[in-house]
Amino acid sequence: MNAVNESIATKCTAVTKRGTLFRAKPTANGLCPMHSQPGLAAELGRRGGAKNRHYFPVGAEKKLDPPATAADVQKILAEAMEDICGRRMGPKIGTTLGYLRAALLKAMELHQLERRIEALEQGERPRICRRE
Ligand SMILES: [Zn+2]
Repeated sequence: MNAVNESIATKCTAVTKRGTLFRAKPTANGLCPMHSQPGLAAELGRRGGAKNRHYFPVGAEKKLDPPATAADVQKILAEAMEDICGRRMGPKIGTTLGYLRAALLKAMELHQLERRIEALEQGERPRICRRE
């Protein structure tokens, strides 16, 4: 190494568009990791951008049959948990499903109560689930 290179060894030897040196710490070859590996910056940018993308590409959305029972809701939530952990579903969608689950189960419960009251009013003996 000559005297000039030794004096700037604490900085990357790549030159900016302005003609100044980059301030990044160099590796053994005198360049910072970004300039040593030409595709590294693009790859890191791509990985960062991938975090903001939608999980399902357009046209690959999951088809969901409307849940009719609490068991259906349970199954959908279990699949959603699996998809979130497997990074196939965004956590925001999972949160939305959680809110919808609460409203749907409450509606199912009310519907069941309405049916039982209707049966009582018509003089039928309502079906009551009892633990034995
Ligand atoms: Zn550099």
